[in-house]
Amino acid sequence: MLRQGLLWLSEQQGVFNFVRTNSLARKFASRFVAGETVEQAVDAALELHRHGMATSLDLLGESVSRESEAAAARDQYLDMLQLLAAGHLDENVSLKLTQMGLDVDENACARNVQAIVEQAAMHDGFVRLDMEGSEYTQRTIDFYFKHITKELQPHCGLVIQSSLRRSVDDVDSLIERQIRVRLCKGAYLEPDEVAFPDKADVDRTYVEMMERLLSQGNYPAIATHDERIIDHATKFVEQQGIPPERYEFQMLYGVRRDLQRQLHAAGHRLRVYVPFGSQWYPYLMRRLAERPANIAFMLSSIVRESVPHS
Ligand SMILES: Cc1cc2nc3c(=O)[nH]c(=O)nc-3n(C[C@H](O)[C@H](O)[C@H](O)COP(=O)(O)OP(=O)(O)OC[C@H]3O[C@@H](n4cnc5c(N)ncnc54)[C@H](O)[C@@H]3O)c2cc1C
Repeated sequence: MLRQGLLWLSEQQGVFNFVRTNSLARKFASRFVAGETVEQAVDAALELHRHGMATSLDLLGESVSRESEAAAARDQYLDMLQLLAAGHLDENVSLKLTQMGLDVDENACARNVQAIVEQAAMHDGFVRLDMEGSEYTQRTIDFYFKHITKELQPHCGLVIQSSLRRSVDDVDSLIERQIRVRLCKGAYLEPDEVAFPDKADVDRTYVEMMERLLSQGNYPAIATHDERIIDHATKFVEQQGIPPERYEFQMLYGVRRDLQRQLHAAGHRLRVYVPFGSQWYPYLMRRLAERPANIAFMLSSIVRESVPHS
């Protein structure tokens, strides 16, 4: 119930307008969001690289309703790639198709995405198309096959969510075409007809797809903070003799930093997803929904900081 309420709230623009002006909420957001500007995000990436971790930068924002907003987001991505190149950082970014204008004009969206992938490809960079709610799953996969040319495919990948009932088939077809996949559980509120209502099924399907991707996929990204699943993955690659250059783990900025350090120290590749930008509210609400204990943490820090110290 709480998760559903938080995910519902994540879509309420009026609540965002209210929350955005609240300095304590912004402060809490800074645990999960690397700032509002691209410079702040690049600084965060530099710091992570110093600790041996790779990054994927994400300009927060989704569902734009005007072509000009999509073009502005595209330009920010192009600037971001330049800044990453100037800092000798991995040119790896993640974006959402609705942020690039998918709901406004698919062809304009395709031109925006192609411009970003082409620029990333110049320095062997990589662009991940994040996966949004299930109404976009087929559209995102179709978009990829229609608009990402064979030459650009090594520089662009998709995301599959284990919460969706369709995903095992999707993973099989992406493995067959050797498209790079990031595997996650799925962050959106979905109806039972399309997604498993029980977490046990989501986790079981994750492990099933993860094993297929690790054995037969093209450099899969295992995106989770679930210790049991990570443990399963590390044992599986060891048993199968799959070397660390064939896959990577991915985690979110500010989430389970202890586990991030542990995996890196054990010799696995780890990439941190670094979100930034002014549109942080829906992202923050999805993180709260994943771990309601974060709400207690947020409330206690608000109370702590509101009480005057003697
Ligand atoms: C790199 C990356 C990219 C992603 N991209 C997408 C995407 O494109 N589309 C999409 O739908 N979803 C995406 N997600 C989100 C994902 O779908 C899950 O919602 C999220 O990762 C939580 O699931 P989990 O696998 O960590 O497992 P869970 O079972 O939710 O959590 C396992 C454990 O991880 C820790 N944990 C998880 N979340 C939090 C949190 N917010 N705060 C503190 N601790 C936490 C807790 O200890 C928890 O017990 C992405 C996640 C990652 C890591």
